[in-house]
Amino acid sequence: MQQNAASGAGSAVVSLREVHKSFGPLKVLDGVTFDVARGEVLTIIGRSGSGKSTALRCIDRFETIDAGQIEVCGHKVHDPGLDLRALRQDVGIVFQSYNLFPHLTIEENIVLAPSSVKRIPKAQARKEARAVLAQVGLEDKLHHYPEQLSGGQQQRAAIARSLAMRPKVMLFDEVTSALDPELTGEVLKVIEALAQDGMTMVMVTHEMGFARSIADRVVFMHRGKVHESGTATILTAPTTPELAQFIGTGL
Ligand code: ADP
Ligand code: MG
Repeated sequence: MQQNAASGAGSAVVSLREVHKSFGPLKVLDGVTFDVARGEVLTIIGRSGSGKSTALRCIDRFETIDAGQIEVCGHKVHDPGLDLRALRQDVGIVFQSYNLFPHLTIEENIVLAPSSVKRIPKAQARKEARAVLAQVGLEDKLHHYPEQLSGGQQQRAAIARSLAMRPKVMLFDEVTSALDPELTGEVLKVIEALAQDGMTMVMVTHEMGFARSIADRVVFMHRGKVHESGTATILTAPTTPELAQFIGTGL
């Protein structure tokens, strides 16, 4: 399976080619193409309803696509014969809502997937849980329940839970948009540290300042298409009126 990584996609870890997706009569992705290289941070921005979340969900096969190709870490995601379990081991995804199991402690939340999906022995999984919690600054919350944590802490725990699977790619979908402004900073800091560690990531965000500082490349989606893309400089010097209007600079 893994040798497929070299075919077509070059050095890209994530590669979308002419991806189309409709929900009934609604065309949500209209020929989306972009690549993410190893260690790169790609930020997706755009108006609500432009297809950002759908694009992200297609990468992790939470949605199936109608046409086009998606390759992730050598997995042909568009292929009906895809090994979904293998894909999900390589790709971590964190959503706006934390999705922690409320009846489990933070440690139990984190240990669950590695021990059940990856069959890692419990003792080792617990040791790794401590390591990933330290990575997000929550080593003292091991035995707490989600409701005992602030929203920012819960989101950091959700990130730690993804990291426990040792993913090769992380997907973030507006992970700070449900948080009070004073709590977004601590979550963004964790993501920034991950980026500096060389994690490949695709991040949908409305935090423009953060996108500017962290993104190697930015994709602006508009009506289901990649309307403009480039380095973070497009956020200060957009070339299309639509992006200019979106970021409020006028053009
Ligand atoms: P964004 O993340 O950019 O706000 P989405 O990808 O969530 O946009 O949604 C794009 C469009 O697709 C929206 O009009 C949304 O209502 C619609 N949509 C998303 N998911 C579904 C679904 N499962 N069924 C029907 N329509 C959907
Ligand atoms: Mg969305």
